[in-house]
Amino acid sequence: MKTEQNQKVGFISLGCPKALVDSERIISRLRAEGYAVAPNYDDANVVVVNTCGFLDSAKQESLDAIGEAMAENGRVIVTGCMGVEESAIRDVHPDVLAVTGPHQYEQVMEAVHDAAPLSESPFTSLVPPEGVRLTPRHYAYLKISEGCNHRCSFCIIPQLRGDLVSRPAADVMREAEHLVRAGVKELLVISQDTSAYGVDLKYAESHWRDRSVRAQFFDLCKHLGDLGAWVRLHYVYPYPHVDEVVPLMAEEKILPYLDIPFQHASPSVLKAMKRPAHDAKTLDRINMWRDICPDLSIRSTFVVGFPGETDEDVDYLLDWLDEAQLDRVGCFQYENVEGAPANALPDHVPEDVKQHRFDRFMSKAQEISTKRLQEKIGKTIDVIIDEVDDEGAIGRSKGDAPEIDGAVYLNGDTEPTPGDIVTAHIKHADAYDLWAIRED
Ligand code: SF4
Repeated sequence: MKTEQNQKVGFISLGCPKALVDSERIISRLRAEGYAVAPNYDDANVVVVNTCGFLDSAKQESLDAIGEAMAENGRVIVTGCMGVEESAIRDVHPDVLAVTGPHQYEQVMEAVHDAAPLSESPFTSLVPPEGVRLTPRHYAYLKISEGCNHRCSFCIIPQLRGDLVSRPAADVMREAEHLVRAGVKELLVISQDTSAYGVDLKYAESHWRDRSVRAQFFDLCKHLGDLGAWVRLHYVYPYPHVDEVVPLMAEEKILPYLDIPFQHASPSVLKAMKRPAHDAKTLDRINMWRDICPDLSIRSTFVVGFPGETDEDVDYLLDWLDEAQLDRVGCFQYENVEGAPANALPDHVPEDVKQHRFDRFMSKAQEISTKRLQEKIGKTIDVIIDEVDDEGAIGRSKGDAPEIDGAVYLNGDTEPTPGDIVTAHIKHADAYDLWAIRED
């Protein structure tokens, strides 16, 4: 096979932020070896598609993306969550060059080497120590563990990714430090279960800078908070030990933000889902957190139409939402996921009923979000700028994560640059976004 110095790899990244981190690692390795990233199909010697296999609709999206890459380029390597179902991929796209699963970086690299070998003395471009990131320069995802020890009945992630494997604390801290040195202003901590960090390592200590750091949720938050960047926690469960990090939020060491995927509120549905901390007194816990840190923003996702869910369960959920007053919520209608135990549960909910429950949920969520954002009018907040164009700057408050939450619009203000953190006065709000004027 012909070898070249300037082999180019196209990259399509689908799925969640965790898959995005996998993509970043693969691209960092490719760049370190001398491969270039192709901006389009025509320029690519081979295309890697990082798939999502969580929901059936995500699988279809993955198959469509593979199909597009096959049609446009024809030399395709598949990786990611859907890669564990090689036969399902090969049934539709028999000619893909290789299929690998999530985190199989070595296998992806081998497949790229086979498909697009570099010449003997490749030009190896320098890759910065923080690696190559697919997110804008001023924020970065920081993955602290892989896998999950829970067995939620609708989920196949433990089958795909195995039990929890935490990274040593020193590794995480070194990566975070590199990112901050490289100009990252906001670290987004991700995993499948952030609050379980370090359990598998029995909270082992490792050496970072001049000290020992424990692989433990609170300790990690504290050390990350010392780096001088915004630190945002995603995928936290309402375990009692989460209480410990809320004072760090009140002290402005880490952002007053918790992304907690509650999924439901009705005890019987949570039990059927086998959710972690399903019996926790979450409303009491939320109220206590808000007493400690009144600015706390809580975002969550929910599922309606889970098998066996009744109208009473939905009433319970909506009443719970009224009490909890969560700041940001997303909702999905339940879908079977191939291989998930929930598929075998009795009393699946008809599609029209799911839709009706979804509509009820969204209208309640919108009412709460509108009210909570209205209460912010007149306040002065910090805004991190994401984009600036001719019409002004668009940023986010401390209560808004990129991609999933709302925006703060600074109309007509073209002075800031992305990554700046500015102080702004809130003038207007709708159900999802804020409009503000920067203070001098
Ligand atoms: S906590 Fe539940 S939903 Fe989340 S990854 Fe683990 S098993 Fe899946």
